[in-house]
Amino acid sequence: KVTEHPTYKIASIPADGIGPEVISAGITVLKKLASTLGTFNLEFENFDWSSDTYKKTGKYLPGNALQTLKKFDAILFGAVGAPDVPDHISLWGLRLAICQPLQQYANVRPTKIFRGTQSPLRNCTTGDLDWVIIRENSEGEYAGHGGRSHIGQAWETATEVSIFTRHGVERIMRFAFETASKRPKKHITVVTKSNAQRNGMVLWDLVAKEVAAEFPDVKVEKMLVDAMTTRMVLKPESIDTIVATNLHANILSDLAAALAGSIGIAPTSNLDPTRENPSMFEPIHGSALDIIGMGIANPVATFWTAVEMLKWLGEEKAANALLEAVENVCEKGIITKDLGGTATTAEVTNAVCDEIQRTL
Ligand code: ATP
Repeated sequence: KVTEHPTYKIASIPADGIGPEVISAGITVLKKLASTLGTFNLEFENFDWSSDTYKKTGKYLPGNALQTLKKFDAILFGAVGAPDVPDHISLWGLRLAICQPLQQYANVRPTKIFRGTQSPLRNCTTGDLDWVIIRENSEGEYAGHGGRSHIGQAWETATEVSIFTRHGVERIMRFAFETASKRPKKHITVVTKSNAQRNGMVLWDLVAKEVAAEFPDVKVEKMLVDAMTTRMVLKPESIDTIVATNLHANILSDLAAALAGSIGIAPTSNLDPTRENPSMFEPIHGSALDIIGMGIANPVATFWTAVEMLKWLGEEKAANALLEAVENVCEKGIITKDLGGTATTAEVTNAVCDEIQRTL
């Protein structure tokens, strides 16, 4: 009897900077994994939407981009940002122009110290730092509300309005508590700044209390965002799941990635938990223009991104096998410069492919 293997259609958007280098490495490893396991197929389609496209056409995305993306099971995204395009134009033109309309409201950022890598924190090794940061990804400080008036005048004024809706806060809080309840420690830290921001952050606290009542097995803690930064450095083992707003979680997760060894290993998933739209998976790092074309970009963040994508697609076994292969390669010391090694992007990629071949 012939068994039908699922085929997943993946849209790849490498975009800017080192994005094409790491996405190409990620696709190589994913193809190797799929062909070695033989239990599912992956079909990739590449989209060359980037800051170069913007400079040529005045647009990052063609008019039918969202309809096109909806036909895929997942999106693999590289990085956006170019030296001659203001960051707020590139971010809103490409990444947020996909995340927001596709209702990818839950941004998930796992952090851990890989075997064979070093945390800048003294005495902190694998297992001491095992966190997942849940970032609200659809509103808050990045809602895009505000404006500027009297431009160029001494009394020029700009407003940047944070929007917090009960609907938006409830859905991210419930998602975060569900995530925490499935993890061994069943512990969540709700991060706000409700001592100084007295509207949105107070709603955030209130909703956290309501949702917490639905999850009696989850231990809940409240923390102000400034105190959270010191806690992450001084008592990392006391943290497990963190839920925070769009801006706060963005900052905390960059800190988390650095504490785990390098921003070059951290992944992020932009999920639509309703699964009505495809979710988007990307490394946390940006376009890293200082190392573009040098062949030293760390592809591990993209490999871990691929792991998270496979989990979301239901391929848990393949996901765990890939993560294990990546950690084994790090443990052998085949690591890039950002992690203190000398390996190139290609050498790490080949080593992960060899490890997949050897272990599966
Ligand atoms: P963004 O604002 O989009 O996050 P950024 O320019 O502020 O971008 P990154 O592009 O993430 O930040 O780069 C920050 C630093 O980390 C740079 O020195 C960069 O070279 C380094 N870096 C980022 N990603 C990697 C990677 N995959 N491998 C090695 N170094 C990296």
